[in-house]
This record gives sequence, structure tokens and C-alpha cells, in this order.
Amino acid sequence: MQVWRLVAHHEESRKALSKMIDIGRIAIGWSNIGDIKDLAPRNSSEIAAKLKSIQPDVENANMAGPSLWNLFSEVEIGDQVIVTANKKRKCVFTITGPYIFDPNNSILGYSHQRQAALTNIDPEKLWQASEGNVAEGESVRWTLVKCQGTKKSSDIVYFEGKRYSVTSTAIERDRSARDKCINHFGCSCQVCGINFEDVYGNIGRNYIHVHHRVDLAHSNGEYIINPEADLVPLCPNCHAMIHTDKPAMSVEKLKSIYAANYA
Ligand SMILES: [Zn+2]
Ligand SMILES: [Zn+2]
Repeated sequence: MQVWRLVAHHEESRKALSKMIDIGRIAIGWSNIGDIKDLAPRNSSEIAAKLKSIQPDVENANMAGPSLWNLFSEVEIGDQVIVTANKKRKCVFTITGPYIFDPNNSILGYSHQRQAALTNIDPEKLWQASEGNVAEGESVRWTLVKCQGTKKSSDIVYFEGKRYSVTSTAIERDRSARDKCINHFGCSCQVCGINFEDVYGNIGRNYIHVHHRVDLAHSNGEYIINPEADLVPLCPNCHAMIHTDKPAMSVEKLKSIYAANYA
């Protein structure tokens, strides 16, 4: 696991941050360079050179190159990103998916994105545990910079073996993955079958939790969520019960417990 520091946006950081939380992605600028996948760069200098060639007046190409390279190539699924806004450390995201180029104006024109979800990790604690510093060879001036990896910083995330549940919680909050799961399964609990709209009417419409069933510890950072195979809609009761094992028990096991006890 690596720790990163991202500056949300240089002008409208608060607005950008709330978009990131809402959409479930972190993002950085320099969008007119286009999709980095099409560039297929081998290093950060190739990105900086390309940016200078299409935008000769750009002053910060040497910051853009490493930041975009980090986002595109160095950041791994399961990494933690401390996001700052207005020079304050605001929150920590977990990376949940690969690099995406989004040409739509979803995050104030910041098109280079990674799927990520908000965690409950304290950004200040994680920064202090990373020695309050960026990694060797990285510059604090970059938009996206690697922090010093330390035993202490992984302790903040892994403490009491909770990395699994932190990452899972983050994935369960990822709105785009959630929507795909619900489109596929519908809104009824896959264990007990309750449908909140049937029971509570309008106020229960579209209400359901989404549970992540795969253990990321076995995924080597290359894991891409499949919302139909890896996520499952559960009611809050069944969701609480499935997490009584750590990591969570299988949906099948909870179903058999439910069937054995509820007559
Ligand atoms: Zn249920
Ligand atoms: Zn869950």
C-alpha cells in the first residue's frame, strides 16, 4: 500500500472535492493533453514533452508530467490518497479502479481520473504517520505526489487487520459501482428478500445497502471491481450480520443461516 497526497483543485478546491466524493473518483487537470492511454508514455518526461508540444505557453509542464504519470501508472488499487483543499488536509480516499479519461465536465474540467471512494481514515494521522513528508525523488509542488511510505502509515490503515474492511467500505460507497450493482440485481435484499418500497412505500424507494464480497488482500493491486460479480444488495440487517465474521462471511453462508433460523 502506498500513500499519496493530492491537491484537489487550485482554484475551486472545495467544489472539486465535493464532486470527487459524489462521483467516487479523484481527478487532476491538464485535460487538453487527452487520454493518457492513447499517448502510451513510458515515463513522466514524455507526458511533459507532449504537453509542451500542444500547449507551448504552459508553465507547469514539469509539475504536470510527474503528477499525470503518478495517476496513470504509479497509483495502485488499494492505495490511500490524502486530499488537500485550501491547503488543508481534508480526507482520505482509497483507490478502487484503474485510470479513466473522462471528457465530460464531471469534475470541473479535470478529466484525468481514478475511481476512488471516501474512507473514514483521519488524513492528519495518515500524513503524520508518513513522516509528514513526500517520498524521495518526489516534489511537494506536484499536484499528485507520493508520500513517505512507513510502517506507521500502513498501521493507520491496516490497524487491527482492518484494511480489508476499510477498502470494502470504500468500494461499497463508490456510487458508480453501486448503481451498476443495483441496475443488475434490483433493490431487494439478496439474503432475506426484503424490498423497502414494498414495505415502506415511497420513502423506501431505491433504499438498499451494497456489500462488497471479494477479499482485496488477495488481489495484488490489479483488481478491478465487477459490480455484478463482486457487489450484492443487502438490507441493513443482513449487511450487519454478514460482517459479524472478519472478513465478512459469504452471502451463501448467511443465506443458509437465515433459512435455518427464520421460519
Ligand atoms: Zn436482508
Ligand atoms: Zn459489506
